[in-house]
Order: sequence, then structure tokens, then C-alpha cells
Amino acid sequence: LRTVRPSTWENGPGLWRLPAITPLAHKYSRGVVTILAGAGMTGAARLAAAGARRAGAGLVTLAAPDRAAGDVLRAGEPGVIVTEAPIAALLADARRDVWVIGPGMTAEEGTLAAFGAVASAGRRVVADAGLLAAAAGAPERLRGAAVLTPHEGEFTRLFGSPGTDRLCAARAAAARLGSVVLLKGPDTVVAAPDGRAAINAHAPPWLATAGTGDVLAGMIAALLAQGMPPFEAASAAAWLHGDAALRCGPGLVAEDLAAALQKTLEECRAT
Ligand code: AMP
Ligand code: MG
Repeated sequence: LRTVRPSTWENGPGLWRLPAITPLAHKYSRGVVTILAGAGMTGAARLAAAGARRAGAGLVTLAAPDRAAGDVLRAGEPGVIVTEAPIAALLADARRDVWVIGPGMTAEEGTLAAFGAVASAGRRVVADAGLLAAAAGAPERLRGAAVLTPHEGEFTRLFGSPGTDRLCAARAAAARLGSVVLLKGPDTVVAAPDGRAAINAHAPPWLATAGTGDVLAGMIAALLAQGMPPFEAASAAAWLHGDAALRCGPGLVAEDLAAALQKTLEECRAT
């Protein structure tokens, strides 16, 4: 792994290019993201949806496990589609090519089975939170995911402690699973199975508050759905997320991030 050394590890707009918005764009061409919601912590899925929408996805669906959760989700943003349709029915629509699984889900609500169904249908999955917990001690169960987004605790439960060399640990995990691994923290490490890696230090400590990781998962999915490869999508999302947080200031709560992204994207696209 150590043989592949880029000239710089630093993440930033020089490392990736945001997808163009072409004049003939329509909502489906701009990326379709489907987010599984849990029965309890429905706020996490809503935050992921907000991140996905602000990061440019043309159409975001929240898939609720039951009517009660669906009704809670429907009380949220009017631009999100909420459905109680079973996963198999949602997979029948080939446009649903990118999924977020885990935010607000527990390991016990069929989370791994849902991942299996979506991944074996060839769809790209951003694996976070409850899905990572469901595979604790058995990370191979997440084989087929496009991007894993563990924080340090989730990473430790999957692969063992990253220790002090988080870069090395993330690269080893990525190589082991064949997925991009984004190890969150004050410095976020993004590692690809082929050895590429980036460190994102463009993020303020006030991101350390509940829900910010859910927004990030949605953003990664949106960039994947717009055609960015997993390593670029994860790196770009980490930088944009940090930049939006810097604009919010220390009073940031997760709900602020998506709106602040607008300014970040405007400036990023202008340069
Ligand atoms: P989660 O742990 O899933 O809630 O995600 C938290 C988010 O906040 C991730 O994007 C982390 O990288 C970010 N974060 C947490 N702590 C810090 C910190 N001290 N400095 C910068 N970013 C942080
Ligand atoms: Mg989280």
C-alpha cells in the first residue's frame, strides 16, 4: 500500500471537478438518490436528504419502513418524495442507481438484508451509521458498497482501531473491501482500493455535533449520482461539507449545513 504515494495528500478542488450542469439537464439526469429511513431516528434520513438535494441530486426519495415513519417524513421538506414501497419495488426502477443506507437505522431492522438486496441489484451504496453497525466485526458483509463513511468508533468496530496512522488504516480497509473508505474525524481520510488517498483538513471542529455525518452521506450519494467516481465524490463531499461548515460558524447545527452549501457550490463552480 505504501508504494502508491501521490505527490500531495491534501484534499481540495484541485483533486476533483464538480459535475457540469448542462443546459439540457433534467431532474433524472442530475442524479437520483434513494435514502432508506429507519423507524425511529427519522431526522437522520431527512438530513441525508437535505445534503443530497443541496449537493445537486435532481430527485431524492426517502424510503420509509412503515406508515408511521412515512407520515413523520412527509411532514418535512416538500421537495422530497416519501414512499412506503418495498425495496424490491423501488429497485425495479433502474433510475434509482444510488442509495444511502444506515443514517437513523439500527443494526436490527433488516439493515444488512436491505443492503444485500440493493448491492446485489448492482446499485451503488453509501454505507453509514446503522449499516456499519450491522456489519460490526464482519466488514466483508459490506462488500459491494461504493463508499463507507465510518467515524472512528464505527471504523474500530468494523476493522479494529485505526491507531495513530489513520491514513494507513483507511487505505488497508479500502483495499480489503474494494470500496472507498472515508474515515471521519478532525482530519477526514478518504482512501480508495487502488491506494489513492486524500486527507481533508478543510473542516472546523464545530462540525462535531449530531447529524452532520448524515448530511455528508447524502452529499456523497448526490455526487455519485451525478457521475463522479466514488473516490472523487467522497473527497469532494468532505471538502464541500467542511467549507459549508466554515461559513456557518461555531453556532452550527446540522440543519444549517445544507443551506450553506449553496454559497460553497456557487464559489466552487465559479472558479
Ligand atoms: P458523525 O460522526 O457521523 O456524526 O459525523 C461527524 C462529522 O463531523 C464528520 O464529517 C466529521 O469529519 C466531522 N467532525 C467531527 N469532529 C470534527 C472536528 N473536531 N473537526 C472537524 N470535523 C469534525
Ligand atoms: Mg454518523
